[in-house]
Amino acid sequence: MNKILYIANWKMNKSFNDSESFINKLILNLDTTDNNEVVICPSFISLAKLDSTNRFKESAGISFGAQNVSDQKHGAFTGDISVEMLKDTLSKYCIVGHSERRLLYRESDRQINKKIKLLIEFDIIPILCVGESLEQRKNNESEIIISNQLSACLKDIGEKRLIIAYEPVWAIGTGKSATIQDISKMNSSIKKQMNKLGFIDEQFYILYGGSVNIENVKVLKTAKHINGFLIGGASLEVDKFLELIKR
Ligand code: PEP
Repeated sequence: MNKILYIANWKMNKSFNDSESFINKLILNLDTTDNNEVVICPSFISLAKLDSTNRFKESAGISFGAQNVSDQKHGAFTGDISVEMLKDTLSKYCIVGHSERRLLYRESDRQINKKIKLLIEFDIIPILCVGESLEQRKNNESEIIISNQLSACLKDIGEKRLIIAYEPVWAIGTGKSATIQDISKMNSSIKKQMNKLGFIDEQFYILYGGSVNIENVKVLKTAKHINGFLIGGASLEVDKFLELIKR
């Protein structure tokens, strides 16, 4: 697998106008001869509006993803967005299990498993985030925590294409990235666990996320089994994001 994925998680940032101008500039300046795929995950509102303009569908090298989806198909779930609603947008991917949702909204592995099943049913590629807390890392529990998260979130999922993003909680938005040794070791463990769960190597990508920036991306790219990055803060300014991809 030699394609590198750069997934921008914009979280609750950017109006539609800001999103649109970012994407226009990205399209103009992105080197599409590189074997990269850039995925923008904006707000639900921007995703829907970008779709209505219909112009982005043919832009080579750029795809779109949602940041979350409901674990229910439809019904009385005020404020939620269902997978069928995502199908009305440009969403090729959807992030699930981000640590902010696990911590702030108490999302469980069981709910994440339901979301993954719905996404697969509707042909949207799940980006499953897994990661350990600082305390778990200090207790040398990182590998077992990630392994358990994978088993629970991927329970009864047939061998489908998906993306695993290793995002240590202590590295997200802190400016403290994991080291290349940490990432390589965890990626090998994730690969082993995925194989144990019945996935063959061609069915999953492994990404790293957590304080990736222009300075560290080049080195992090040399980690074992890495297929790309999930990027928060460093994906918000288009010039810096383009520079990060170039490196
Ligand atoms: C994230 O929120 O998924 C993330 C990786 O954020 P940051 O790059 O800002 O650490």
